[in-house]
Amino acid sequence: MKLSFEKSRPGRGSRILPETDVPERSLPDALLRKDAPRLPEMSQGDISRHYSALARRVHGVSDGFYPLGSCTMKYNPKLNDEMASLPGFTGIHPLQPEYSVQGCLEAIVLAERLLCEITGMDAMTFQPAAGAHGEFTGLLLIKSWHESRGDSGRTKIIVPDSAHGTNPATATMTGYQVVNVKSDEAGGVDLEALKSAVGSDTAGLMLTNPNTLGIFDRNITEITRIIHEVGGLCYYDGANLNAIMGIARPGDMGFDVIHLNLHKTFSTPHGGGGPGAGAVGCRRALAKFLPSPQAKESGGTYSFEDPESSIGAVKAFYGNFLVVIRTLTYVLTLGRGGIVEAARNAVLNANYMMNGLSDLYDVAYPGICMHEFVLTAERIKKEYGVSAMDIAKAMIDRGIHPPTVYFPLIVKEAMMVEPTETESMETLDEAVAVLREIHELARTDPQSLHDAPISTPVRRLDEVGAARHPVLKYSF
Ligand SMILES: *Cc1c(COP(=O)(O)O)cnc(C)c1O
Repeated sequence: MKLSFEKSRPGRGSRILPETDVPERSLPDALLRKDAPRLPEMSQGDISRHYSALARRVHGVSDGFYPLGSCTMKYNPKLNDEMASLPGFTGIHPLQPEYSVQGCLEAIVLAERLLCEITGMDAMTFQPAAGAHGEFTGLLLIKSWHESRGDSGRTKIIVPDSAHGTNPATATMTGYQVVNVKSDEAGGVDLEALKSAVGSDTAGLMLTNPNTLGIFDRNITEITRIIHEVGGLCYYDGANLNAIMGIARPGDMGFDVIHLNLHKTFSTPHGGGGPGAGAVGCRRALAKFLPSPQAKESGGTYSFEDPESSIGAVKAFYGNFLVVIRTLTYVLTLGRGGIVEAARNAVLNANYMMNGLSDLYDVAYPGICMHEFVLTAERIKKEYGVSAMDIAKAMIDRGIHPPTVYFPLIVKEAMMVEPTETESMETLDEAVAVLREIHELARTDPQSLHDAPISTPVRRLDEVGAARHPVLKYSF
C-alpha cells in the first residue's frame, strides 16, 4: 500500500480554514522555518479512503478474537471512553490551581481508594505510564526503604524464571543484581531453590502472579514469609489482575508493593502504543517514598502534596489522567459483584478453551489455569515439523489474532493463550475449532501451514532482519 506521502500531489490540500478576518501578524524571522514542512497533500476524500484502507489491515478487538497471552486484549466498554472524553476532564490544564480542579482530584483519590481496596494496599500513585515504568517506580520505593534504614548491603532481587521479562530488566535498571530462581514441577516457585537463594543481601523478590504459565502459586504466603524473614520486601507484578481481582488480594498474601496495568485489566484499549498507566500501590510504611505529587483529601477539600521522602517525579504531572478515569468508570459500573464476575469468567473462559484443546495440544503445565494457559507445540514439531510459528500464522488466515508465541522462555514452542472474560462461548468454540482444524492440517498437509499466512498484504516477515536492521523512517 502506498504511503500518504507517495499519494501526495502538490496543491491538492484540503483547505478547510476560512479566510482570516483579523489583521495578520508575522512572527520574528528567527522563529520562522526556512522551508515549508514536508506534509502530504491529499483531498479529503482520498485521506478518508487512505485511513479506511489502513484500518482494514489491522486486527483489533473490534475485528475479532485476540487471545494474546499476558496482554489482556479484552473488550473495553465504550462508556469508559465517553466518561474520559467529558470536557471537565479533557479541558483542564495541569498547572490549574487546585480549587478549580476539585472534581478531577476527587476522581484520582476515589480511584486510589478503590484500587487499594482491590489490592489490599494502603496508598497508590498513578504517575507511571506503563507496567514496566511502574515496576521501576516500585523497586525505587523498595530501594528507598532499605536506604532510609541505613541497610545498604542489600544488592539482590530474586526473580523466578516464570516472571514476565520486564521483571529482571527492571531489577537491573534499578541497579540490583538479579538472582534467578527456577520453577518446580507444578510451575510454581521452587521453595528449596528460593530458600538457598535468599540472605542478608536480598533486597526483595519480584513475583508475577498468576505467573507467565497462567498458574497461581499455591505457596504464595510461604514465599513472602521466606523473603520477609531475611529482611527483604515483596513486589507483586499485578499487570494481569484479571484472574484475581475481587477474589484474592496481594496485600493479604504478604506483598509490600504492587503495580497494576490499568491499560490491561482496568479497561483502557492498548496495543498500539497508546497511553497507559502502571499504577503502583504500597503499604503505609512505604507511602512516604511515593512519587510527588500525591492527590489527598482533607475535610472534603482536595489538594496535591509531596510525600515526605518522595523518590521524586517519574513522569510529568499526574501521569495519564484519562486512563485513571476509564479505570474509575470501569470499577464503579462493575461494582463489587461485577469485578468478581469478570475475574471468574476470565478464569472460566481460559479453562474452557484449554479443555477443548488438551487432547490434541500439550498443555505445558496441566491442571486448572488462571486467566491464561500455555500450550507447547514441541511434540507437533517433532512429529509433523509444524512449529508454534506455523500455527500462529495459520490462525491469522482464519481471522484470529495469534496467541503470544515463544514466551514464556521456559516452555519450548510455547503458545500462551488468554481468551479474556469478554468473549462468548461461541467465539471460544470457534477458536477451538480453528485450532483443531490446524492440528489436522499439521498431520495431513504441513506444507499449507509453512506457507501461511496467505490472506495478508505481506507473508512471513524477516523478524530477525527487522530487529537487527530496523528501518524506522521514510527516506524521501
Ligand atoms: C504487560 C506486562 C508487563 C509490562 O507492561 P507494559 O505496560 O507493557 O510496560 C509487566 N508484567 C506483566 C506480567 C505483563 O503482562
